[in-house]
Amino acid sequence: MDIRQTLNKGISILKRNKVLTPQLDSEILLSKLINKDKKYIILNPKKVLNFKKLKKFDDLIKRRAKGEPVAYLTNKKEFWNDEFFVNNDVLIPRPDTEIIVEQVLKIFSKKSKAQILDIGTGSGCILLSIIKERPNFYGTGIDISKKSINVSKFNTKQLNLSNRVKFFHSSIDNFIIGKYDLIVSNPPYIELSNLKYLDKDIVNFEPKLALNGGCDGFSNIRKVINKASILIKRKGKLILEIGFNQREKVKSLLENKGYYIDKVIKDYADNDRCIICTKI
Ligand code: GLN
Repeated sequence: MDIRQTLNKGISILKRNKVLTPQLDSEILLSKLINKDKKYIILNPKKVLNFKKLKKFDDLIKRRAKGEPVAYLTNKKEFWNDEFFVNNDVLIPRPDTEIIVEQVLKIFSKKSKAQILDIGTGSGCILLSIIKERPNFYGTGIDISKKSINVSKFNTKQLNLSNRVKFFHSSIDNFIIGKYDLIVSNPPYIELSNLKYLDKDIVNFEPKLALNGGCDGFSNIRKVINKASILIKRKGKLILEIGFNQREKVKSLLENKGYYIDKVIKDYADNDRCIICTKI
């Protein structure tokens, strides 16, 4: 079978299984498999693929048809300026989370120096994107998942940032190292009883540990806020990603711990998503 026939077969299987972007997903999976870009695929529809490749493509399409996210099948996801290695030990970086990076860059100039802590670093995408943009920043990432630390360390090496970033396998409860000018976190904030309503591709494949915010959704946010108030320097900034309905509660948790709320930023779907505050 040639490239066009193979793609068409993939597209029709994904369509039948109600995958929303059948053509795009088939193209991405085939590009990954033959190690060429999308342009090559479009320009060489008659190129014949060998049996081994066809079999592998079939396998990938079957996994995608069952809902496995493309990023896990290709082991990569674009975030900010880079491509990050991902597997099912880490949450797939979301475009909305880039708001944290954007806000940090607005607050801290290129020349500024800072120690930054990322709580629940996952793939490391937030921390590494910031560190790469700010040459005088030094970063620490912690995560309760040991496997995710392997992923963030791998990404750090790929981006050549090992000299300015370190990682600890630790829960926030047990972490007591350092004082920080800036603390960022995208903690798990989905209410336990709402997990089942998430998109099937998310709930069946992404790590629950990175999503589950406990009975009220605030279990981890609360821990982050409380511990950050010990780890942060005076006048330090805390920037959190929050759920669309968590603004007021998070504001009051922060105010009770002596933070001044600078602003709340909406995501691309116009939901409150990111809260920025200063420790006073
Ligand atoms: N924004 C993510 C989602 O919609 C949740 C991320 C989180 O809990 N930190 O799946």
